[in-house]
Amino acid sequence: MLEIRNLHKAFGSLEVLKGIDVDLEKGKVLVIIGPSGSGKTTLLRCMNLLELPDQGTMKLSDRKLEFKSGRKLPTREVTELRKRTGMVFQSYNLFPHKTVIENIMEGPVIVQKKDRATARTQAQDLLAKVGLADRGDYYPHQLSGGQQQRVGIARAMAMEPDVLLFDEPTSALDPELVGEVLRVIKQLAQEGRTMVIVTHEMKFAADVADHVILMDGGYIVEQGAPQQVINNPQSPRAQQFMNRIA
Ligand code: ATP
Repeated sequence: MLEIRNLHKAFGSLEVLKGIDVDLEKGKVLVIIGPSGSGKTTLLRCMNLLELPDQGTMKLSDRKLEFKSGRKLPTREVTELRKRTGMVFQSYNLFPHKTVIENIMEGPVIVQKKDRATARTQAQDLLAKVGLADRGDYYPHQLSGGQQQRVGIARAMAMEPDVLLFDEPTSALDPELVGEVLRVIKQLAQEGRTMVIVTHEMKFAADVADHVILMDGGYIVEQGAPQQVINNPQSPRAQQFMNRIA
């Protein structure tokens, strides 16, 4: 489903990704953990080309891309790859002047050219899925952060992506609102959605991941099953990180 080889990304002279390989099968959940500044978000943003990698290859479903420093990708390639990914942002990024249901319908109507009635029915189903069936006519500011983030998840799913990408989906939330968002993500995992999740929530990571990648300094320093990486890390760097946050 997703295959990344030797991915490099620098911001000016700052090398943030130094040769990353990722494999993810359909229906599996990959969780990316690691210290602040290790490159987790950059890697996730490379997966939907919000950041353009400098080097390496990426295959997502039927699209294969090769990156070379200084070479822009054709817009069509970017659009095609983006269609296959759905991003859930840390800060929700909902349109403030549109209602919840309009926020979810926006992509299907504007990008996929679905008719409004079909898009509305689908949006309503997705709202029910994230436990907000009765909030369609609210505006984002009338919802709690946890509810807004659940709308963010419904909106990402509305585009029917092959893979859902979550960038620290609970880190902007008050602690008491974290659980409701994690429960929705866990439910999606149980339904067999393919997902990549950047998170600092270790208990959740251990619970939901099929595979965990631990990044440090632009490298993957350990990867494997959550029982290994989180509970019984093998490399000294991974042990150090897990001890520090324990
Ligand atoms: P955190 O857990 O704090 O979110 P992270 O592991 O997700 O950290 P990234 O956000 O990927 O780390 O950032 C890695 C490094 O790249 C940091 O030093 C950051 O300042 C730098 N960086 C990220 N985006 C940019 C950008 N657009 N321009 C310049 N530097 C950037």
